[in-house]
Amino acid sequence: MNLRNWLFDNLIPAHLLRKIVAKRVAGKGIALMYHEVLPDHEGPAAWTVVKASAFKEQVTFLREYFDVVTLDEALTRNSSSEKYSKSYAVVTFDDGYKGNLTCMLPIVEELKIPVTVFIATRGVEEGTFYWYDQVIALLDYGKELVVNLGQYGLSQYKLNTSKNVKVNWNVMQQLLTALKTLSPQLRVQAVNDILAKHDNIPVRMRMMSKENVAALASSSFVTIGGHSHCHNILPQLSKADLKSSIEENHHKLVEWTEKKVEHFSYPNGDFNAKVVMAVKTAGYKSAVTTQGRAWEGAVNAFELPRYGVGRFDSLGLFIARLGQLV
Ligand SMILES: [Zn+2]
Repeated sequence: MNLRNWLFDNLIPAHLLRKIVAKRVAGKGIALMYHEVLPDHEGPAAWTVVKASAFKEQVTFLREYFDVVTLDEALTRNSSSEKYSKSYAVVTFDDGYKGNLTCMLPIVEELKIPVTVFIATRGVEEGTFYWYDQVIALLDYGKELVVNLGQYGLSQYKLNTSKNVKVNWNVMQQLLTALKTLSPQLRVQAVNDILAKHDNIPVRMRMMSKENVAALASSSFVTIGGHSHCHNILPQLSKADLKSSIEENHHKLVEWTEKKVEHFSYPNGDFNAKVVMAVKTAGYKSAVTTQGRAWEGAVNAFELPRYGVGRFDSLGLFIARLGQLV
């Protein structure tokens, strides 16, 4: 556990922290970004996989201190001058993992909170994994390994060196960040090189199927949003590839869910003017980013901030982050 987590879990009493948070977020909104929720003992020890018990604890806290609302309601409140007794919070998921249906949905239905799930359609349709999940699977290698990306002008990364899963994740995060700097073509090549050297470790993550997406969308607590078809870093794409990835994704989600799909999430949080224009042209009315801050004042509907929540966040750190104390 790092010092920051320890401080918020031990030094500051939880009730005091909660009071501070309630005061600091008064009149503001908060949006949270998750990826996957799985039973506590399943899945890789990756930042993106939040344990079911932690997720339940976090949303229980949220429900107590915030009005947990849909993205539509949050946008309405943000532009309204009406005063509400509580601040509002939005819970979102990116990518389209299977645990969203099997593990997360029963929790949010029990607690009666709305969520938005942004789905990238290629992984769902083909049953394949995006490059980052293939790389994350190296955490399951069971022994130390060195990934040398010297030929790509990048560094060398020593994975699985610690018994502490968080320490191992930090190195994984550096490797993923480095790979994101490569062009989509070079990244595929680099990832294939890495996997070939390490026996193509099986990926423990699971994406939803089309039928799973339809089942998730049929819940009255779920809104489905777009996340591109290819899940590439959109500003790196040509104009034609950008347009087709956003439109194919939108078209497929509408077809699978038989519902309107009106909100978008930029893969990896990356966008520029060209990407915003393509998202607007596809008919979306908002888009979320990964800029971690509260919604304060009138927000730009195509640059909505979200706090990322990961496996290694303690409840104290989660609360402190909502209060923008860290
Ligand atoms: Zn994503």
